[in-house]
Amino acid sequence: MEKGNQLYEGKAKKVYETDDPTLVIVSYKDDATAFDGTKKGTICGKGIVNNRMSNHLMQFLEKKGIPTHFVEELSDTDTLVKRVDIVPLEVIVRNVSAGSFAKRYGVEEGIEFATPTFEFSYKNDDLHDPLLNTSHALALGLATPEEVEKIRAMALKVNDELKAYFAGLGVRLVDFKLEFGRTTEGELVLADEISPDTCRFWDIETNEKLDKDRFRRDLGNVEDAYEEMMRRVFGKEA
Ligand code: UDP
Repeated sequence: MEKGNQLYEGKAKKVYETDDPTLVIVSYKDDATAFDGTKKGTICGKGIVNNRMSNHLMQFLEKKGIPTHFVEELSDTDTLVKRVDIVPLEVIVRNVSAGSFAKRYGVEEGIEFATPTFEFSYKNDDLHDPLLNTSHALALGLATPEEVEKIRAMALKVNDELKAYFAGLGVRLVDFKLEFGRTTEGELVLADEISPDTCRFWDIETNEKLDKDRFRRDLGNVEDAYEEMMRRVFGKEA
């Protein structure tokens, strides 16, 4: 499958048309942004890590019964996926307090929750992705009640599966963000990416951060953290 016209360029990915109107090619970049796009940089090799890791996790989740956009990995940085209309909700699941949760509710990072939390942000850069609840999402017509229920059930199932998967690799899955889309056939599927850009990964023994917080917080060794996650997932071949 060849790349056609570029449809879209986001902060970390480009999207291209293909000959097939139901499929697009996603191309992962090394560009990184944080804090609403105000912090910009490059993380060498990030495109490869995020593409390969995301594809691996999407295929793992498909096997567990979660429908995803994944079709075929085309190269280290490029993947063929189903064309979707993205539901404009950032779906965030948390197992441990961190980031905006810790800040908003005035608690320290690292508190393990008895039950995972589930929240939405409105995916809207102009409004800075505000937090919103289900009734707000429905009032704004961002999704139907059935879609919201499906999204909640799928996100919690993804959490159960990924938490156990990463625990087996010595990684604590602190929190993550998912996006869902509607395919041209009207199916609701998991879309976007699952990577160190969109998840918080802490080493289970040391709590060392192995994700984009190393970039956000200028902790150094950013590339090493992405490479370490690659090694945990793929072993020595990575
Ligand atoms: N996240 C993301 N994109 C966003 C906002 C958050 O992928 O635009 C991920 C982030 O990497 C973390 C989780 O969602 O794993 C929860 O992020 P949080 O709400 O704590 O926001 P942050 O502190 O990253 O601003």
